[in-house]
Amino acid sequence: MARKKSTNSTTPRHPHPHLFARLNYLHQSAHLLLASGSANLSRNLVSTARTVAKRAVIRFDPSIKRTWCKRCDAVLVPGVSCEHRIENLSRGGKKAWADVLVVRCWRCGCLKRFPVGRVAHEKERNESGKARERGYDVTGEGKEKEEDTGGDPTR
Ligand SMILES: [Zn+2]
Repeated sequence: MARKKSTNSTTPRHPHPHLFARLNYLHQSAHLLLASGSANLSRNLVSTARTVAKRAVIRFDPSIKRTWCKRCDAVLVPGVSCEHRIENLSRGGKKAWADVLVVRCWRCGCLKRFPVGRVAHEKERNESGKARERGYDVTGEGKEKEEDTGGDPTR
């Protein structure tokens, strides 16, 4: 008699669920300790989380990595341990797609840069491409529409 194969629903999603639980605990504890004023202990937990993930070859989600400083392992909370500002180095700051979010760590001064105008830029490209197919130009109208839907990643 042949053995039944186990279904996929019973197999665990990750090979080491205890490591994911530990990393989740370290991440949440680091944020909590920063909020309670223990910045150095918070940094220690982030460093431990990085070490555990590196040994187990687990990648953090980019949204989690962006809350940590690469250089000093500080937890980055705007207004508490870092500052956010929008920078646009295009000529005169006229190109909305060139917006860059600059995150500066207050402890070590490390800068992180994330393009935030790219999604809007791609949308504008698609709209102008469609407009060319239809036969009219929307170059002046695209900028107003970008600001309305700039943060929406689904578009
Ligand atoms: Zn730092």
